[in-house]
Amino acid sequence: MKEKISGNVLHCSFCGRSRDDVEILIAGQEGHICENCVEHAQEIIEQELNLKRHLNNSGYSLNVKKPMEIKAFLDEYVIGQDDAKKVLSVAVYNHYKRLKQKASGRELDPLNEVEIEKSNIIMVGETGTGKTLLAKSIAKILNVPFAIVDATVFTEAGYVGEDVESILTRLLQVCNYDVEAAERGIVYIDEIDKIARKSDNPSITRDVSGEGVQQGLLKLLEGTDVLVPPQGGRKHPDQKMIKVNTNNILFICGGAFDGVDKIIARRIQTNTIGFNVDKQQQEDVKKNLLRFVNAQDLKSFGLIPELLGRLPVVTYLDPLDASALRDILTKPKNALMKQYHKLFELEGIELKVEEEVYDFMVQKAVEYKLGARGLRSICESILTDAMYELPSSKEKTFTLTKEYAEKKFSKSKMGLIKAA
Ligand code: ADP
Repeated sequence: MKEKISGNVLHCSFCGRSRDDVEILIAGQEGHICENCVEHAQEIIEQELNLKRHLNNSGYSLNVKKPMEIKAFLDEYVIGQDDAKKVLSVAVYNHYKRLKQKASGRELDPLNEVEIEKSNIIMVGETGTGKTLLAKSIAKILNVPFAIVDATVFTEAGYVGEDVESILTRLLQVCNYDVEAAERGIVYIDEIDKIARKSDNPSITRDVSGEGVQQGLLKLLEGTDVLVPPQGGRKHPDQKMIKVNTNNILFICGGAFDGVDKIIARRIQTNTIGFNVDKQQQEDVKKNLLRFVNAQDLKSFGLIPELLGRLPVVTYLDPLDASALRDILTKPKNALMKQYHKLFELEGIELKVEEEVYDFMVQKAVEYKLGARGLRSICESILTDAMYELPSSKEKTFTLTKEYAEKKFSKSKMGLIKAA
């Protein structure tokens, strides 16, 4: 038996510690191992087994639907936004078709094959118009892992803030570290407009939270192998990394791009000088400027061309008007008011709502400029007292009248603060 002996002292064959430096030294056929190395080996085994157990165990199996089916599904959850829905349905369908083509196992001829590129998407629209909801709903219908991240938390690698790789950590966490599922997941990057290049101070100070992050996102978006720290946070040398390939991950970015309408207006005006455009048409264009947004406008806004190159699909969301807000209250599959009806029903109480109550809620949301997101707090301020008192009463029905709604709202925190 070959033992690692220097002089006459036995050593651990793994860490090299001598017999005198350890408590226990176990002999094997070709060498020795000390108690420290046994413990360390045990930790490694546990980590590996845990990862393997999670692998392919997350219940996600891709369910590709045709564009019309995707759109019909989105219609159940999202009010309006027809253009965005259509563009998204097609982009997503093509993205996963590309994935299937790759997975078909057919020999690809690298010279003659038409390679379908990834269709990462960018959505432009005011906050609270349904961007996140659209992305979330798409992930739901396709049954793929979905993660939402906020672009503002990232900084260029090496600076205080999160590295862009942590986007993939979130995705892995969502699907229990099922790497294969994560690799065809969807990531929604919110507030992409907030990492626009700050054009008026070029490189006097380093732009680590703007252009630096855009640069960092590039490699993720185009598709590459990324080593991801499983628990997020900064990489450190001892941490075991998981390799994730981003080639088939669909990235959907969203942002309000405040002020982009002026950029669009300028571009359209220069384009139309000398043309005979009728007055009505001009008015329509002016009212719906966002509809004409393109990559060039986003570049003027401060996104770098390389990033825009990797986000080839650009679409927009309309601001929500009163009638859209009204529909949001009652029509989507899990509409707010349907949720309240359910809550009351679980209590054995039938909730009846007078039609004018909905108009009142919408009117307040518009007045307070809260958009769809504000509808929830308005409902809460009106219904909290009823939800507090009714479970202890014997009532079997509760009718929400406009008078009741007005009274409760005016006494609520929201009602006490006058709309700006
Ligand atoms: P954004 O990402 O554009 O800021 P969200 O998608 O997060 O907005 O919308 C916030 C909330 O408002 C959603 O959870 C949803 O309840 C509601 N909402 C917004 N827009 C719509 C819409 N078009 N249809 C249905 N609900 C909507």
